[in-house]
Amino acid sequence: MRRISRLPLASDVEGAMAAAQARLNSEIAGLLPEKWAKTAGAAWDHHDSGAARSTLHAMAGPRQCRMYCCDSHGDGIDHFRPKSTYPGYTFSWPNLLLSCTECGRYKGKEFPVDDQSQPLLIDPTVDDPWAHLDFDPETGNLVARYDPVHGCFSDRGEEPVRQSRLDRREAVARGMQKALRQLHERVERALADPRTTADRLIADLHQIDEYGLVVWCFVGSGRHDTPLATLREQLPSLWAQCVSLIG
Ligand SMILES: [Zn+2]
Repeated sequence: MRRISRLPLASDVEGAMAAAQARLNSEIAGLLPEKWAKTAGAAWDHHDSGAARSTLHAMAGPRQCRMYCCDSHGDGIDHFRPKSTYPGYTFSWPNLLLSCTECGRYKGKEFPVDDQSQPLLIDPTVDDPWAHLDFDPETGNLVARYDPVHGCFSDRGEEPVRQSRLDRREAVARGMQKALRQLHERVERALADPRTTADRLIADLHQIDEYGLVVWCFVGSGRHDTPLATLREQLPSLWAQCVSLIG
C-alpha cells in the first residue's frame, strides 16, 4: 500500500458531480435507509464517471497501483464510504478510490468505524499506510503494525488486513517480495559506488517502487534489514539525507 496524492477534478466535472449529489440527496430524503442502496446505486450507474476514472488512473501512476493493495488487476471505482450506507458521499470526489477486483469484492458494503465513528480502514489519499501497516519480508504479507508504546497492534492496520485479506494475497505477496529484492539490489549498488547521491538513490528507488516499500525501507521496520542497515551504519550522512528526502 502506498501513499497517493489526490489530484483535483476539472471544475465542470466537479460541478456535474455536485449536481448529481444534490439530485440524489433530494431523492434519498424521503426514503427509508433500506432503500438507499438501490437509489444511490442507480444514480451512480447513470452518471458518467469517465472523467473521475481518468483522474484516478492519473493518481495511480505509471504502474497503475490499485489503492488498497497496489495490485493492478481490475479497474473498479470504490466508494471508501459505501454509497449504500453513506449515500451523501456517492458523488463526493474525496470518497472515490481505484480498487482491484479482489479488494472491491472483499470490501463490499463493509465500513468499520471506531467508537468516535472514525474509519478503521486506510484511505491512502489521506492516511500514511505505514503508520498502521507493516510488511513481513519472509511471507510477503502486509500485517498490522505493532505499537510498542501501547503494547498492541494498530486497529487501523488490523481492519484493512482482515478486510482485504492482505495477509493471504499470494499475487500481492510475490509482487512485494520481488519489489523488495529490486530495491535491495539498488541499495547494494549504492553501497558499492562512492559517487552515489541521496537525490539519485531515492529517485531511482521511487522509480522501481511499485508497492510503496521505499518508505518502509527507510522509516519503517525495513531499515533494520540488510542492506538498509548496512547503508545506515556505513554511510550515515547519505542515510540521513535519504530519510529527509522521504520525509
Ligand atoms: Zn486491491
